This record gives sequence, structure tokens and C-alpha cells, in this order.
Amino acid sequence: MSRTASTVLRSVLDHGPVARSTIARLTGLSAATVTKQYAELARRGLVREVDTRIPRVTLGRPHVPVDIDVDRHVVCGVHIAYGHTTFALMNLRGTVLAQEREPHRTTAPEAVLTRIADRVPAFLKENDRTPVGIGLATGGRIDPDSGTIVEHSQLGWRHVGAKRFLGERLGLPVHVDSHSRALARAEQLFGDERTRVSVVHLFVGNVVDAAIATNGTVHSGPGARAGEIAHLALQDDNTPCPCGRTGCLQAAVADRTIAERAVAAGIIDVPDVRRLLDKARHDPRARAVFRQRARKISQAAKLLLDVINPEVLVIVEAGAMHLPECLDEIRARTGDRIVTTSFGSDVLSVAAGSVMLNEVYGHPLYFLKSQN
Ligand SMILES: [Zn+2]
Repeated sequence: MSRTASTVLRSVLDHGPVARSTIARLTGLSAATVTKQYAELARRGLVREVDTRIPRVTLGRPHVPVDIDVDRHVVCGVHIAYGHTTFALMNLRGTVLAQEREPHRTTAPEAVLTRIADRVPAFLKENDRTPVGIGLATGGRIDPDSGTIVEHSQLGWRHVGAKRFLGERLGLPVHVDSHSRALARAEQLFGDERTRVSVVHLFVGNVVDAAIATNGTVHSGPGARAGEIAHLALQDDNTPCPCGRTGCLQAAVADRTIAERAVAAGIIDVPDVRRLLDKARHDPRARAVFRQRARKISQAAKLLLDVINPEVLVIVEAGAMHLPECLDEIRARTGDRIVTTSFGSDVLSVAAGSVMLNEVYGHPLYFLKSQN
């Protein structure tokens, strides 16, 4: 049964290298069930025995430990951001093996997806790998069941059937999800252990959105609208928002907004948040822009902590990730349950690859044919 296979595979992920008898003890499954499921997973190249032997404590068969097979399979991830697409390859432990980033030439959905369909085969060929499938992640509202980007306000996309488009052209399984939901699950699979119980994931880039996950399940809600916080009203902010109001969270704190503010203040010459971050390492005016953003983000973080009460709130935001004073600024207002992403500068690649890895860990016998 698929759920049992998933339980065994996730136990190997968490505890490997680990003896099969230990998996039985940890999962509460019978030794016979673990042995059977392990064999199914091994036939698909997902797990393998490892060389290091756990010392024999009793006479009889040695307990040969088993682990995730990180050499056999990879997933491909594609992340669509406001200004660029990221392509990545990841192994089954969520390690990024290769990645590249390409600026959009135009942001029309058909053009971006066509470019992805052209680029992915070349990217795979350059790295000499055939992935189990492709995960596509982006911000905004995503319907993972149909693989549709329902609304991406910054790109101006509506009802873009990305799964169907790419699935037809690439001939591989394609899964589509919101980058925040994918990252919340990635933390549960590969990241901070406290997130296993409950986590709120807050993404602040050009898109601002959140995801909520408890006990290995991400909450999407009707219309997959959970975590939409772009238009959360901030106190003491009058940034105009495309929705017609002022002081909406996304409009006030987006990368583009703070970069444009920094250009207007003469801190940088082009509106690029990465340049602003470089500048912040030695220019206190640039750091002040990030600190101001951190104070605004604190309002959203505090609300999410109060309403959802998670074990941890994981944040993806350039200032908090790279400038300790920004993380301090947020923690001073919200407490120490705020942590930054486990995935550092690989975060967009991990978001994308994890869309597919979530499927592999959720239904491990489904995607792969038995090898013998
Ligand atoms: Zn708004």
C-alpha cells in the first residue's frame, strides 16, 4: 500500500543509515511489512543498503543499514520569479546538484513556458540526467490539482495551464505548486526538525505569500487560497497598491518596491534588490532600507504567529537571511520562533524541486517502475 511505502521511505530519510528492524520499531509497522516495502522501494532505486555495518549485538544476521539512494534518481525543478526563471536538479535528499538562472526576455506566459519547454531538455542533457519528473513552483495563487497558475499578480498572469503545457511538451510527469507550500514541505522533509509538528512559511520577494503546514500536511483550503497575505493592511504605510488601497503588505515590502525606493534615495543606480543587498554590507543607508522592511514584515509575522501559533515561522527574505540585524529586528518584535530558511541561496531551486520530491515521498511506488 502506497501510504505504508511512503511511511517507510520517510523514516529512512529521517533516520538513515538505519537498520530495517529500527524502522519497524520507529514506525510501528511489523518487521515483515517493512521488509516487503523496503524491497519495493529498493527495486525502484529509492533506497539501498549501505556499507557501514551496525555492530552485531547478537548472533545471527548482521543488521545491514539502509539509506536513501542519492545517486540513482534526480528531480528537475523550475521556479518562475518576477524577473527570471531558475532551473535546478536535486537528489532525493533535497541537495541541489546543478542550477542556473535565466532572466525573462518577455513575461508573456506563453513565451515563458515555451522557453522553459525548450531549455529543460538542454539543461538535462548538459547534466546528463533524466529526472523522475519536473516540479514547477511560483508565487501567487496556484491550483496544484489541475497544475494551473490561477493568478500571479506581479507577472499579470491568470489561469495559465502550466502543467498541461509543459507535460505535453516535455513528456515527463510535471507537478505545479506554490513556492511557499513547496518550501513548507521541504522544511518538513529536509530542514528544521521543529517544522515537522507545525510551521508557517513566509516568503518575501517580489511576491509575498505564506503557507501553513502541520504534521506533514500543507493546508490549502477552498480554492487553494490559504496563505494569501499580499493585501494584508499594514499600520503606518501609504504605499499605493494595484488593488486601489494603500499600505498593502506586498506593495509595501516587495523587492521591487524597496529597490525603487533605494534608487530614489540615491543609494543604488538601478532597481535591483541584489545590488541593494551587496551595498548593505558596507552602506548603512542600504541597511536602513532592509531594516525598515523588516519592521513592516514583523507586523505580518506577528499576526501569523498569533493566529496560527506554529512551532516555528520560517522566513525567506533577503535582509533576514543575510543581515543579522534584520533578523534581530523581526525577533525583537515577534519572539524567537522566527528562523530563516534552511536552504539559503538555493531556496528557489529547492522550492521548485520539492514540488516533485513531495510527490515522490508521498507516492513513492507511483512514479517509478520496478527495475527488476
Ligand atoms: Zn492591495
